Amino acid sequence: MEHLSAKPFRLVSEAADEAGVEAYVIGGYVRDLFLHRPSKDIDIVVVGSGIELAKRVAQKIGKKAYLSVFKNFGTAQVKAGDLELEFVGARRESYTHDSRKPIVEDGTLEDDQNRRDFTINALALCLNRERYGELVDPFDGLSDMEMLRIRTPLDPDVTFSDDPLRMMRAVRFASQLGFFIDPDTFEAIERNRERIEIVSKERIVDELNKIVLSPKPSVGFELLDRCGLLPLIFPELCALKGVETKEGIGHKDNFAHTLMVLDRLSRTSDNLWLRWSALFHDIAKPATKRFDPRAGWTFYNHNFIGEKMIPSIFRKMKLPMNDKMKYVQKMVRLHMRPIALTDDEVTDSAIRRLLFDAGDDIDDLMKLCEADITSKNPEKVRRFLANFQKVRGKLAEIEEKDRVRNFQPPVTGEEIMETFGLPPSQPVGVLKEAIKNAILDGVIPNEHEAARAFMFQRAEKMGLKQVEEKE
Ligand code: ATP
Repeated sequence: MEHLSAKPFRLVSEAADEAGVEAYVIGGYVRDLFLHRPSKDIDIVVVGSGIELAKRVAQKIGKKAYLSVFKNFGTAQVKAGDLELEFVGARRESYTHDSRKPIVEDGTLEDDQNRRDFTINALALCLNRERYGELVDPFDGLSDMEMLRIRTPLDPDVTFSDDPLRMMRAVRFASQLGFFIDPDTFEAIERNRERIEIVSKERIVDELNKIVLSPKPSVGFELLDRCGLLPLIFPELCALKGVETKEGIGHKDNFAHTLMVLDRLSRTSDNLWLRWSALFHDIAKPATKRFDPRAGWTFYNHNFIGEKMIPSIFRKMKLPMNDKMKYVQKMVRLHMRPIALTDDEVTDSAIRRLLFDAGDDIDDLMKLCEADITSKNPEKVRRFLANFQKVRGKLAEIEEKDRVRNFQPPVTGEEIMETFGLPPSQPVGVLKEAIKNAILDGVIPNEHEAARAFMFQRAEKMGLKQVEEKE
């Protein structure tokens, strides 16, 4: 336990002995120590007053320490530089049926371990000098750690019914750590799934974000599906499940496909919102699915309809209704565009338009599109990916030449209004749009002088006259 020799633990140890109380490092920090994962938050449980011990520790650290006391919760925090220590008195919790908020009383270390969600999160290491580094593991969390098993310390039906958020946490830890959920624990999630309704949407989405960010997010989503939580928290994703066959023609299972895209993307990007875009990219396929005897299954405009579905889903799930959502909408809207550019005859104009529409997000979009190639035929995958490389090359070439990625029209609306003495009106918009299209189509270069000359040409056709310049 070389980490435990670190100075902060020594200071807590001294302070606890001086105060005559038992103190333990507990929970996530201990778990992550065994798993060799980096961990920031250090939780210290004290058999006695957490606040008193925090005060002593802060005093020992000296001027660098910053102490915050949360009297109502009986907790305190000591911050010093990067270090964050949370202190709490050992507690016993009891729950009522309609709330996740427990009634809290002072308790023993054992009471405190009993209220923990999983055996791997209930490990405690003693900090008092005489027992320094002693592991207190009443539920054999250590062998669960070795077996990579998520298991509740007590009857799982009670653990999950008391606080149903723990069901989401079980799935999240399985996905994040690559653990499996013990069958008894898993079955209790299936039985208690409806209890998720007493958990706030914010908490649920917090866990979903952690699942989305896990190394192989499909693990979490498949578990959510198998235990029956998914339809309760994200029915639109569930609706992608299944394959319909007509006249002997089937389509792919869009749920399996979506998860595969998400996993593939996760190998190349840690961007949370790009990963959410993968989850949403085909979200409108069920709504747009048609069978055409000549063309087979079609999903016309599923990208545009998907883009439109996003705000109401974000609102309902309490995902942020801000620029992150706009970004996801953009990715969903554009996710079909690069594939259309893999033909040999693709024009510079089409490339310029994609650069203009995607702007700085073009690299993210390309990653999403590459992840979207999930065909089982390796030859097909190879061909598509090779074509995408060509598209990337063309994108770079055109951007170098024409700089349309963050296109700002070289002639502004104001300049148009001043030149022709126009109020804000339709002709101004028409002229601006014509200039933009001329640049994107390569008719004129992306430069002020050329754009101004083009503006005069077009204005003349529209019967607009330049106002006299004042002397
Ligand atoms: P992470 O930091 O990745 O979220 P963590 O295990 O440190 O993981 P926290 O939410 O910080 O998670 O919780 C710290 C500890 O508190 C957990 O290890 C667990 O022992 C306990 N805990 C947290 N939430 C619950 C809960 N809903 N029910 C029971 N115990 C919980």
